[in-house]
Amino acid sequence: MVVALNNAHAAIDTIPNAYQTALAQYDRAVQRLNLDENVIEYMRWPRREFTVNFPVKRDNGKIEMFTGYRVHHSTVMGPSKGGIRYSLDVTLDEVRALAMWMTWKCALVQLPYGGAKGGVLVDPKTMSLGELERLTRRYASELIPLMSPHSDIPAPDMGTTAQMMAWIMDTYSMTVGYSVPAVVTGKPVNVGGSLGRKEATGRGVIICMMEALKRRGMANRGDIRVVIQGFGNVGSHAAAYAHELGFKIVGVSDVSGGIYNPRGLDIPAVLAYVAETGTLTGCPNADRVTNAELLTLPCEVLIPAAMEGQITKHNAPQIQAQMIVEGANGPTTPEADDILNERGIFLVPDILANAGGVIVSYFEWVQDLQAFFWDEEEIYRQLQRILLRSYDMTARTAEDYHVDMRMAAQMTAIRRVGEALMTRGFYP
Ligand code: NAD
Repeated sequence: MVVALNNAHAAIDTIPNAYQTALAQYDRAVQRLNLDENVIEYMRWPRREFTVNFPVKRDNGKIEMFTGYRVHHSTVMGPSKGGIRYSLDVTLDEVRALAMWMTWKCALVQLPYGGAKGGVLVDPKTMSLGELERLTRRYASELIPLMSPHSDIPAPDMGTTAQMMAWIMDTYSMTVGYSVPAVVTGKPVNVGGSLGRKEATGRGVIICMMEALKRRGMANRGDIRVVIQGFGNVGSHAAAYAHELGFKIVGVSDVSGGIYNPRGLDIPAVLAYVAETGTLTGCPNADRVTNAELLTLPCEVLIPAAMEGQITKHNAPQIQAQMIVEGANGPTTPEADDILNERGIFLVPDILANAGGVIVSYFEWVQDLQAFFWDEEEIYRQLQRILLRSYDMTARTAEDYHVDMRMAAQMTAIRRVGEALMTRGFYP
C-alpha cells in the first residue's frame, strides 16, 4: 500500500515539484527491478525529517525568525550525506527530493553513505557576512542532535559556501570541546578541506560529458558547442574546465539571465567579470538572452547547472542540443525525459553527472578521519576512476535492459540499496 505523504504522492501535475519528480523516477525504476514489495515501499519514504524555527539577530538589533530543514532519506548504506541549500525557494518537498537523490547518487558511485539534504528559507544575498555567520551557526547548533562524522555529514549546495562549512565545523567543535573537521565537507583547505573539492562537481560534469561524447563518436572538441545554465559553483567550474580542454562555450547564465556568443565566450574573461561584479549582467562581447532562451540555443551539449525543474514538457520540444549533461539535481521532469527520449536527445543523469562533488566530499571525510591528506593529482585520479567506472556500469545496464541512462542509473542505485536493506533486515 502506498500511503500519502502530504500532497507530493499525488499524481504528477504540470508544475514541476521536485519530490513528485523524484518519486515518479523511483516508481518507474522499481517497476523494472525484481525487488521485494516491502523493500520498495520502505525506500520510498524519508527516514527522518527535521524542521527548525530559529532566531537570528540582524545587524540593526532586531530578531528575525528563520525556518530550516534537514531530511535523512536513508542510512542503509552508511551515515547520511548531503548539502545544505540557502534559498527562498526551499520547501520540505524540495529537501525530501534532494535527500532521496543523494541516496541513489551515493549508491550509484559506491560510496558508503546514505542520503540527506538540508535547507534554510533565506536569500543569502540579502544578509551581511555577520548575519550569515549567526544564521549558519544557529542552524548548525539546531542540527547537532542529528549531525556527526558517523551519523550525518553536511556539505555546500546552492547558496552556501566553503566559509559557511567552516562555521558549521567550528560550531560543532566548540559544542563537543575539540576539533572535528570530518563533521562537514566542502570546507576551506586550511581547516581540513580537500584539494579539488570546490572544482569537483563541475569537473565531474565535464568528465562525464567527455565520456558520453567519446562513446558517441563526437571527438573534435573545437566543434562541440556547450551551453551552461547556472554560473555558480557547478556551472562556473564546468565552464572553466571545458574551456581549458578546448570546448567552445557559447552560452552561460545566472539568475539574472544569460549571455550568448556563437563564436565562443572568453570564459576566463567572463569569470573575471563575475568575480568583480557578482553578476553576468553587462558582461561584454556577448548578446543578452533570457534563461528560457538559453535552454533552446543551438549547441551540441546543454548543461543545466542551476536548479531543478528547468527542462519541462513545455521547452523539451524546442531544445536543440544533441546531449544533456545534468549538473543540477533534478533539472528535467519525467514528462520532459519522455520527450527527449522520443527526440533521440542523449541525457547523462544528475546522479551520475554531478556525483563528482560527493565523491571528493567522501575523499575529504576520509582524509579528515585519517588526518592524512592527499595531493591534488591523487584526488583527480581517483575522481576520474570512480566516475568512469560508474558511467560504464550505468551504460552497461542501459544496454542490457534497453533503457535510457536515467533509468539505468536509478535501477543500479536502487537495486544496491534494496539488496543491502534485505541483508540488514527490518529492525526490530
Ligand atoms: P550556486 O549557488 O553556487 O550557483 C547557482 C547558480 O544558479 C548561480 O549562478 C545562480 O545565479 C543560478 N541560478 C539560480 N536560480 C536560477 C534560475 N532560476 N535560473 C537560472 N539560474 C539560476 O549553486 P551550485 O552549488 O552551483 O548548485 C547548482 C546545482 O547543482 C544545484 O541543483 C545543486 O543541488 C547541484 N549540485 C551542486 C553540487 C555542489 O558541489 N555544489 C553538487 C552536486 C549537485
